Amino acid sequence: MSSPMAPRGSLKTLCGWGRYPVQTCHVYCPRSESEMIQLLKRGLPLIARGNGRAYGDSALNREATLQMRHFNRLLGFNPQTGQLIAEAGVLLAEILEIFVPRGWFPLVTPGTKFVTVGGMIAADVHGKNHHKEGSFVRSLDWLDLLTSEGQIYRCSPSENRDLFYWTVGGMGLTGVILRAAFRLRPIETAWIRQTIRIAKNLDEVIDLFEAAQDVTYSVAWIDCLASGSRLGRSVVMLGEHATREELPTKYRQRPLRTPQRRKISIPLDFPNGALNALTVGTFNQLYFLNSQRKAGQSFVDWDTFFYPLDSLLGWNRIYGRRGFVQFQCVLPLSTAREGLSALLHCTSAAGAGSFLAVLKKLGDQQGYFSFPMAGYTLALDFPMSQRTLKVLDQLEEITLQYGGRFYLAKDSHLTPLRLRQSDCRVETFVKVRNAQQWTVNFASEQSKRLRL
Ligand SMILES: Cc1cc2nc3c(=O)[nH]c(=O)nc-3n(C[C@H](O)[C@H](O)[C@H](O)COP(=O)(O)OP(=O)(O)OC[C@H]3O[C@@H](n4cnc5c(N)ncnc54)[C@H](O)[C@@H]3O)c2cc1C
Repeated sequence: MSSPMAPRGSLKTLCGWGRYPVQTCHVYCPRSESEMIQLLKRGLPLIARGNGRAYGDSALNREATLQMRHFNRLLGFNPQTGQLIAEAGVLLAEILEIFVPRGWFPLVTPGTKFVTVGGMIAADVHGKNHHKEGSFVRSLDWLDLLTSEGQIYRCSPSENRDLFYWTVGGMGLTGVILRAAFRLRPIETAWIRQTIRIAKNLDEVIDLFEAAQDVTYSVAWIDCLASGSRLGRSVVMLGEHATREELPTKYRQRPLRTPQRRKISIPLDFPNGALNALTVGTFNQLYFLNSQRKAGQSFVDWDTFFYPLDSLLGWNRIYGRRGFVQFQCVLPLSTAREGLSALLHCTSAAGAGSFLAVLKKLGDQQGYFSFPMAGYTLALDFPMSQRTLKVLDQLEEITLQYGGRFYLAKDSHLTPLRLRQSDCRVETFVKVRNAQQWTVNFASEQSKRLRL
């Protein structure tokens, strides 16, 4: 029986950003810590949900999904250190709106700004600068976690250290993150000095990444339908925060202001099958030619550089009602060239065009269960279909063959066995979860599927 103080839930149809799988869940929207503690006391496993930008089923639990968006206050900022204290449900977009015009930017950001602070910590997100500046945990000073016993623990690298490092990258399975303190970096301008380079094939793109080791931001878009000598042909984007002096005169007057980007909404679901080898192939060809034209240096505003897709609101509808899946793996440096070539061969041979195919270099990693490791990470999107499921099976097998592992924030397809084959940390995580009784209180549809 729930206590009178426990918030009432309502049944809602929920999904992740990929709109696959879809689940009917009991959703609770607590407004206070005591309401959350009442929910915990019922002894049913629950999962915290931020803004639902993980692609698969990691922020869904049929029994109890805890919507955290009411925890949306900024609690403090120290301009000496750049430390921001924020509740877990604050959106990165809200932080950027306030802090960019004042000359501050996150140390680490994922490729969308529509994520919450809690979601960034739980997935320990990485950005285009991981090879140089690591994942979100590097900027994180502490977090407050509500655990199974209804206690709140302050966790940091020096206080409740194990709890801190299991929570970062722990996908909500250690407790509910309530608030956190993390550092922003000072910026002189809101502009990025971008250099676009074209790589004719996979070897060239890896050579470009290796040569750009000291560049702060690097990312490549890959034409994953290209084959033969053009396999892996890419557009590489390199970036640095521009100083005021570097800016063209027209931007120097107000260097922290950038023009508002026009937003376009996708008003309805595209028909299933609208994204196929033909349409993706045409898009890839046009994108590649256009990028060739733009190769070289230019100044782009922060929003365009870091969040190119965010101006297309609801872009996940392009994949149709059946939704889509994302595959993201990381391969160690030693096998990356061969392994990436095998993954791209498999994708292009299946004609399974992904129009969002992204390659990044990752560096060394702190954290007990975070996804990154030194190597290359490839992310591919596929419209959901029976054929896609077969392609995913093949891509996962190739990843295992080359010693890689998978990003849980993107996953909706892995099996318990493949996850364990890819990552020897899984068994320890499960043991700790059992020993700490976290399994009793915290579970997602993903953790049930993967037996975490
Ligand atoms: C377009 C796009 C681009 C992306 N690019 C990147 C990228 O470049 N790098 C990258 O690393 N990721 C990337 N992602 C993935 C995204 O950053 C992560 O999935 C992130 O966790 C989503 O945050 P959210 O607030 O939407 O969390 P949700 O999707 O709601 O939840 C994700 C996980 O966080 C947990 N969680 C959320 N809030 C809390 C809380 N308060 N306490 C405990 N656990 C919590 C959930 O239980 C779940 O396990 C991208 C996603 C999209 C849609």
